[in-house]
Amino acid sequence: MNTPDRDDRPLLIVGAGIAGLASALAFSKAGFRSVVCERSDRLDPVGAGLQLSANALSVLDRLGVLASLRENAFAARTVALRDGASDRLLARVPVESGADGYLAVHRADLQSVLLEAVQVDPRIELRLGRSLKAVETRPSGVRASFARSAGSSETIDTLLLVGADGVHSATAGLLSCPPPTDGGLVAHRFSLNDAPGDEIEAWLSPRSHAVSYPMRRSGERNLVLVERQGGKQAPSGDGWNPRLAGFIRHGTYLGRWPLLTVNPDERMRAFGRVVLVGDAAHAMFPFAAQGAAMALEDAWVLAASLATQADMDRAIGAYLDARRPRIERVLKRVRFHRFVYHLGWPASLARNAAMALRSERAMRGDLAWLYDWRAAPLA
Ligand SMILES: Cc1cc2nc3c(=O)[nH]c(=O)nc-3n(C[C@H](O)[C@H](O)[C@H](O)COP(=O)(O)OP(=O)(O)OC[C@H]3O[C@@H](n4cnc5c(N)ncnc54)[C@H](O)[C@@H]3O)c2cc1C
Repeated sequence: MNTPDRDDRPLLIVGAGIAGLASALAFSKAGFRSVVCERSDRLDPVGAGLQLSANALSVLDRLGVLASLRENAFAARTVALRDGASDRLLARVPVESGADGYLAVHRADLQSVLLEAVQVDPRIELRLGRSLKAVETRPSGVRASFARSAGSSETIDTLLLVGADGVHSATAGLLSCPPPTDGGLVAHRFSLNDAPGDEIEAWLSPRSHAVSYPMRRSGERNLVLVERQGGKQAPSGDGWNPRLAGFIRHGTYLGRWPLLTVNPDERMRAFGRVVLVGDAAHAMFPFAAQGAAMALEDAWVLAASLATQADMDRAIGAYLDARRPRIERVLKRVRFHRFVYHLGWPASLARNAAMALRSERAMRGDLAWLYDWRAAPLA
């Protein structure tokens, strides 16, 4: 779509992670061409498991990739909350929303279906081996410079630059945004090939929690253990119930991720014709399993804003106005989950008793506003 404020330069997306690839596909659905510049020379299948609630799935459906993602994904109906020491079931939280359900996937599978769609889309050009080095905002748009892994440099002029370059966003750094905050927590991740169990389970323990689920139909399981930062060694399993301790001891240790967060008050604003999406704008703790989901929502809402607002500054404003309150509400929920999941002893005993008294309906009702969001059709 070309409007009075637009020209035929493709939009520029920095980063080909979940947010960047989804943005390119959403822009294409809205009629815009884009160039995606990614620092890596190859998009390797990195990461581990992701839970995707119906709000995220609705975006993937609009992007045309949900059916292929489902082929390999694990479909869940509930999340079982358990006591970390005893494995006792505390509550089952229903997580489905309408017909869209709830999936657990490998991040690599999500990236693959997005990448395949990008590669066959004539409106999208993916350029690998380009690392953003400079951003110059101009009245008519943005000039971005990239260092190429081959050694040369490349300059691109565009009407809109979308920074989708993750928690360590170079785009945000070049715009003088404060760096991410070290939240004092670390996530240890494991994969398990033949562990039994066919549901999403979360174990709550004083000051730490663990989550495990099948992330492929083949049975490959994800396990993540979140605790305060301490030594560098992998967890031993001590202090957890025997079943979970067995997962920890027999799983393949994928490493430790220090959990960093980004303050959206500093990042969710217009920097001339530059906007940030995904973790670059609002990296959050994984206590509500919504980081990738919010990246997908960002992509869709930004495309919808571009499709409905002829003026670029208004389009950016509409995107920010729509996303800020939603992100704030999600972050409030994340803080609440962090507080509840990591309560120390003996408050954790009171938490367990209170959870056991709550109905599944009440648990589901708490999350309706989150899971029932849907990507609206583009104008
Ligand atoms: C332990 C853990 C569990 C999680 N579980 C869930 C979950 O269950 N559900 C969920 O929805 N979310 C979950 N998340 C969050 C989710 O993984 C992230 O929010 C999401 O992957 C962010 O995507 P992104 O595209 O914004 O960033 P990234 O995936 O980090 O992508 C950024 C891209 O930009 C590229 N890049 C960086 N710098 C440059 C540069 N200078 N120039 C060009 N390219 C550049 C990078 O190479 C990368 O490809 C979890 C996170 C963690 C840590």
